[in-house]
Amino acid sequence: MEPPAFSDSRVKEIYDSYNFILCNSKYAINEPLETDTVEEQENTEKACRKAKAHFEEIQGKDGPLLVRQIHINFLLKQLHGLSHDYIALEGSRTWIVFWCVNGLRLLNHPIEHSLAHRIVTFLAECQSTTGGFGGSPSHVAHIATTYAAVMALASIGTEDALKVINRKTLYEFILSLKQPNGSFIMHKGGEVDIRGVYCAAAVASLTRIMDSKLFEGTPAWVISCQTYEGGFAAEPFVEAHGGYTYCGVAALAIFGKLTMMNIDKLMKWCASRQMAYEGGFQGRSNKLVDACYSFWMAAIFPIVDYELNNLDDKRYDFGGIFEPEGLQWYLLELCQNLERGGIRDKPEKNPDAYHTCYGLAGLSVAQHYSMREKETVVGGKENTVEQINPLYNIVCQYHQLAFQYFEKQPGIVVAHPPVAHP
Ligand SMILES: [Zn+2]
Repeated sequence: MEPPAFSDSRVKEIYDSYNFILCNSKYAINEPLETDTVEEQENTEKACRKAKAHFEEIQGKDGPLLVRQIHINFLLKQLHGLSHDYIALEGSRTWIVFWCVNGLRLLNHPIEHSLAHRIVTFLAECQSTTGGFGGSPSHVAHIATTYAAVMALASIGTEDALKVINRKTLYEFILSLKQPNGSFIMHKGGEVDIRGVYCAAAVASLTRIMDSKLFEGTPAWVISCQTYEGGFAAEPFVEAHGGYTYCGVAALAIFGKLTMMNIDKLMKWCASRQMAYEGGFQGRSNKLVDACYSFWMAAIFPIVDYELNNLDDKRYDFGGIFEPEGLQWYLLELCQNLERGGIRDKPEKNPDAYHTCYGLAGLSVAQHYSMREKETVVGGKENTVEQINPLYNIVCQYHQLAFQYFEKQPGIVVAHPPVAHP
């Protein structure tokens, strides 16, 4: 199987149809000025050519093949314990658990009972008595690690896992982070950030504790983070960024307020983040490709497409502005570590649980939400990963289990039901 050619004509086609300036590799390299940005881009393209040659040496020309079992072994190893080198990540242990569990679910690997029990016990120890979850047992509750813990428990999917979440204190914790202008701080005494809004919205809608008080004024604050480029920033008046754009768009979708944003500008900015040479996404204008944006950027297309076409009479047509085959080639051919397992940011980097989780989630988006009539799984059906819910970044099957469980839980008024994504 030959990779698609990301030719100048393809780039020109996008350029012509949207009439905006592409800031990706082909155009950066054609810049007459030799800047650090151009040099780094050239080095990345060189590393991609080297990685492609190495890949073909191992898999031949029949690939690309997802080395599923090697990735499963990599994630299980990370889940069972990390070396002392990872001590700096002590405050992110709930995140590591989420990345590994979600990665295993995407690879359709069953999590055996004793391991699931250990995970649930560990996450229960990370829950604060005043609501929310910290990064490790007895750490201060933080809205990002709360998102990680809740999504990890949902991805375990058993009643034992889901009942760990104390919805009453969770509601109080989220409300305590709310600011008068509708934004959220990340933790008590912490910074305001659009990630806080998304994590609060995702957790509250999944566990069905949303009410009008919790997010009053929040959609307008999120809109104030959309920049002149079209993407969203961490807070008003700073630079648009892929991760923050995902947070802004997914939060607005959960609130049912996507039409408040400038959709045209957003979609143009998102489309131009897919790199013409590598096929993966960059997170900001003039930056390098990075596998984690395979989810942060690519998931925005199906969210906007699905939610808008369900909310509005008008039919939006975004087909073709995202190149799902190119993204799959980037992940399979250039980002898999074939020997040790795991997905890396880009060639010549080391794989880690974070990029493995978001790389596989991006692969799922590219396989299941191509927005074309015919979906293509690059490399053949055996490369298919489970279908991700792009609003929450958990596998659809586990989103549905959590939805059904929390639907039966009494006691919290729900003004806006969670969005049931396919
Ligand atoms: Zn990354």
